Amino acid sequence: MAIDVKDYLQPHVSLSISERLDLVRRRFTDESHIAVDQEAFRNDDDRAVLYICPAQVFKLNEEEDSCIVNFEDCLECGTCQVARRYTSWRNPKGGYGVTYRYG
Ligand code: SF4
Repeated sequence: MAIDVKDYLQPHVSLSISERLDLVRRRFTDESHIAVDQEAFRNDDDRAVLYICPAQVFKLNEEEDSCIVNFEDCLECGTCQVARRYTSWRNPKGGYGVTYRYG
């Protein structure tokens, strides 16, 4: 479904995460700019990293008890850097990353 910015600005319209992410142009290489220390993740009691990211970049892999990093969805908001417990983040390579089309 194509989303018009006018729809996005309506307070009564509820958009899913993927619909919201469609409003941001993202360009990434195959190389992740986000890393997770998986051992520290396994030993973390609350695993807050799974809940802090507005783009839901960090997901639990229940089979392997590890953290999946969907770095292509990163909005470069910096929240995981502030919360930094076992994640490391660096700027995407020049020319890559996000472009906010509507501010
Ligand atoms: S910078 Fe923001 S959007 Fe990107 S992974 Fe961290 S919390 Fe998620």
